[in-house]
Amino acid sequence: MSPVPGPTDADHASDPATPPAFSARTAFPARAVVDLDAIADNVRRLRQVAARSEVMAVLKADAYGHGLLPSARAALAGGATWLGVAQLVEAIRLREGLADRTAVTDPPAPRLLTWIFSPGPETHRALVRAIELDIDLSAGSPVALDAVVAAAREVGRPARLHLKVDTGLARGGQFLEPWTAMLADALAHEAAGHVAVVGLWSHLARAEEDDDTTDRQLDVFREALRRADEAGARVQVRHLANSAGTLLRPDTHFDLVRPGLSVFGLSPVPGRSPADLGLTPAMRLEADVMLVKDAPAGQGVSYGHTYTTQRATRLADLPLGYADGIPRHVSGVGPVQVAGRRHTIAGRVCMDQMVLDVGPDSTVSAGDTAVLWGSGRDGEPTAEDWARAAGTISYEIVTRLGARVPRVHVGTAGTAATPPADPTSPTAPDPAPSQKTTA
Ligand SMILES: *Cc1c(COP(=O)(O)O)cnc(C)c1O
Repeated sequence: MSPVPGPTDADHASDPATPPAFSARTAFPARAVVDLDAIADNVRRLRQVAARSEVMAVLKADAYGHGLLPSARAALAGGATWLGVAQLVEAIRLREGLADRTAVTDPPAPRLLTWIFSPGPETHRALVRAIELDIDLSAGSPVALDAVVAAAREVGRPARLHLKVDTGLARGGQFLEPWTAMLADALAHEAAGHVAVVGLWSHLARAEEDDDTTDRQLDVFREALRRADEAGARVQVRHLANSAGTLLRPDTHFDLVRPGLSVFGLSPVPGRSPADLGLTPAMRLEADVMLVKDAPAGQGVSYGHTYTTQRATRLADLPLGYADGIPRHVSGVGPVQVAGRRHTIAGRVCMDQMVLDVGPDSTVSAGDTAVLWGSGRDGEPTAEDWARAAGTISYEIVTRLGARVPRVHVGTAGTAATPPADPTSPTAPDPAPSQKTTA
């Protein structure tokens, strides 16, 4: 395969004296503009909502598609004191990335929790590195506990451990009885100096619904806390709430809340908009119109001709498709705004392209900016609108956005103490398009 410059290959000149031939980031015909100030404001809002708890910004999956490091710095600027990522390797990348650019004026290094790893020799080496980097680890099974203990023995210092109890999601963690046995093992390892059991935690199944599952999960969680107390555990943080718990259920807050989606300004609650919840969506997905042309009445459009023009009209071709994570399910239903008007995708979404029927009197021309989703403040569709069109949730819409779509970070939250951007970093702020997009 020939090497194709991706959006991360910003610098195509090897000689630093010569300006780059072009920037693959800015030459890419689409971009996700991510407002760092919105992320910081959303975290401030969540801190108000959970005023007696600390806030862990959950930044898994490249910060729900928003770009890991800039999002992390913005969340810290908004007052998050903890960061969480699912994957062990993401946690290591996050800690190393934050340390790279830590300036003396930065707030203290955040606590960082990770909870997904499976045993094996390579995982062992990664766990060793995580403990060296002061990353908090979760154990949701005896196997995970053993893996953490083995890594801590090698490092020669106790690993900070959060024991995960399954209170009813039936996913990670142990149900109450086996959890109680795991707790006893963990406390024995603590006495031997291999771990420090600092956290007890669980995850909610349906806090966004009006349903008594959360009450039952709370009962189990409180019982786990009682048993830990009885066993002599001295934990620092008990935590249970995701975004929905944080926003709707103060009784789930405990010492620390773990919002993810709401950090990015999206609503986890069906029927409640971000604005209802005091949140601002941080991502706007834009594409440059590639070409506009006249088409006759009766013209079938895109693969399979599932759309046919009803009259002589104009068609606009957009350079985004399912290779960029645009769900093919939105063929014929996905909303796009261009030149102040909303259109519906005409026919099938292709790998790299999609077509709009912009109407016979359209003023749209090549180079205009089409907005697929954004905050909705200027009438553009939102990630929620896209979720409805695709039969999914807004989590999936933003998270599945392809890695090749450049993330352009605008706003200043978390950037003040940051030295000039490293042009090779996939998430480095890009000043040129920032100015363009904030103008
Ligand atoms: C994803 C996740 C969260 C955040 O969930 P949201 O619904 O996005 O707020 C919190 N805790 C755990 C364990 C998670 O996996």
